[in-house]
Amino acid sequence: MAGAEIVLRGGRVVDPESGFDAVADVAIAAGRVAAIGTGLPTAPQEADATAMVVTAGFVDLHSHVSDLAGLRLQALDGVTTALELEAGVSPVQAAYQAVAADGRPVNYGFAASWAQARMTALAGFPADGSVATVLRRLGDPAWQGPAGPAQLTALFGRLAQDLADGALGIGVLLGYAPEADPEEYLRVAGLAAEAGVPTFTHARDLIEMRPSAPVDGAEEIVRAAGQTGAHMHYCHVNSTSQRHIDRVLGLVGRAQAAGSRISTEAYPYGSGMTAIGASFLAPERLGERGLVPSSLTYAPTGERVASEARLRELRQADPGGLAVIEMLNEDDPADLLLLRRSLTFPGSVVASDAMPLTWTGPGDPLAWPPAATAFTHPRTAGTFCRALRLLTRGDEPLSMARALAKCSLEPARLLEDRVPAMRRKGRLQAGADADVVVFDPATVADRATYADSIRPSAGIRHVLVNGAFVVREGAIVPGARPGRPVRAEPR
Ligand SMILES: [Zn+2]
Repeated sequence: MAGAEIVLRGGRVVDPESGFDAVADVAIAAGRVAAIGTGLPTAPQEADATAMVVTAGFVDLHSHVSDLAGLRLQALDGVTTALELEAGVSPVQAAYQAVAADGRPVNYGFAASWAQARMTALAGFPADGSVATVLRRLGDPAWQGPAGPAQLTALFGRLAQDLADGALGIGVLLGYAPEADPEEYLRVAGLAAEAGVPTFTHARDLIEMRPSAPVDGAEEIVRAAGQTGAHMHYCHVNSTSQRHIDRVLGLVGRAQAAGSRISTEAYPYGSGMTAIGASFLAPERLGERGLVPSSLTYAPTGERVASEARLRELRQADPGGLAVIEMLNEDDPADLLLLRRSLTFPGSVVASDAMPLTWTGPGDPLAWPPAATAFTHPRTAGTFCRALRLLTRGDEPLSMARALAKCSLEPARLLEDRVPAMRRKGRLQAGADADVVVFDPATVADRATYADSIRPSAGIRHVLVNGAFVVREGAIVPGARPGRPVRAEPR
């Protein structure tokens, strides 16, 4: 035990893998958990964890956040690893280099980006490895159409290079290019299968929403898993399925039972958020999702979109501007149950779809706390603590260990085949990475709302990343940037 730098003293230690759940001390040395036991010797730094849960930090498979303030909000929600997997980035090498130069409070990693590779191959937009660039161009029809043979060669060459450079999988924003050839998608899945990494798909429209779709979005994911053997990860199954969640989960469950590798994730909010220029937010397509212009709140001004004409104007002037989209109503118990079912579905993991902050006025993105002019979807700041609140309280609560597994162990396992670092995350055991969250189980809860979107979650006492405090006594540690890159081992 000599050499421990930090001891978290006397907390309720919960390891979602072994099921260990008992009061103990946790000793940390050299970025790893050194020992778990009672009466461990004192260390230079001691933190009291009495009456707190001490467990593995949360692994967020779906975060579009790259700004410091947004990452700090995530840390205050218990997140110690925030990965950009659904949109992905290209080239991944550029993304890893840019982040390494700045440092981050939490661990980071990227999938290759089908959309960004397509934006270059089809539209000639330069790829810079930045998610902001993908979001800005999301609504541009120039990258969304059918691809010719030379374009496909360039696109698949780019994806293969990103996989060779350690991309964690392939992100596929298929729902944003609804006329893309289903054969192209199968080829993407085939490439991922060869590389032994998952795809992360924002599904195409469901047939109930868009009878003219070339294929049903859910059937397509299931079919790709069956035909290529790829591990298909179904992103935010809540928001792309809406009231069809039972049909979609039924389909996924049958395919899983038949041996396909399909995993799912969800965030417990009824509204979504994306670029206002997204193809499915075109005025003539709103009806497919039962939306009207006023279902959208345009983030930069906070306005509810008043009319089709205003929607057209905003899509034209600022296609990458973010909007909150009201879909399910969280205050309606029936809708809340749909969200709950998307979370409690076997193997479904909690993932935030955290969004970059939009500045509605002057504000310093490096300042903490962020100025009140910062706006985002409350899922950015609140997803994990909200999930814990919904899953561990109320009717038919899950055990603490089971709920925590959906936040840490299960997302880590989903990636660990080709990502060695993931075998040491999501667990709280001797030898595990010291990514640790310490929270009060009696008070842990989200506090961010649509009106006050940057309120940090309550009840998070300490957060450590690679053995360094990022949150201490409930407060952000200024200057702490212990996050490390997470990469796949290429085959
Ligand atoms: Zn998405």
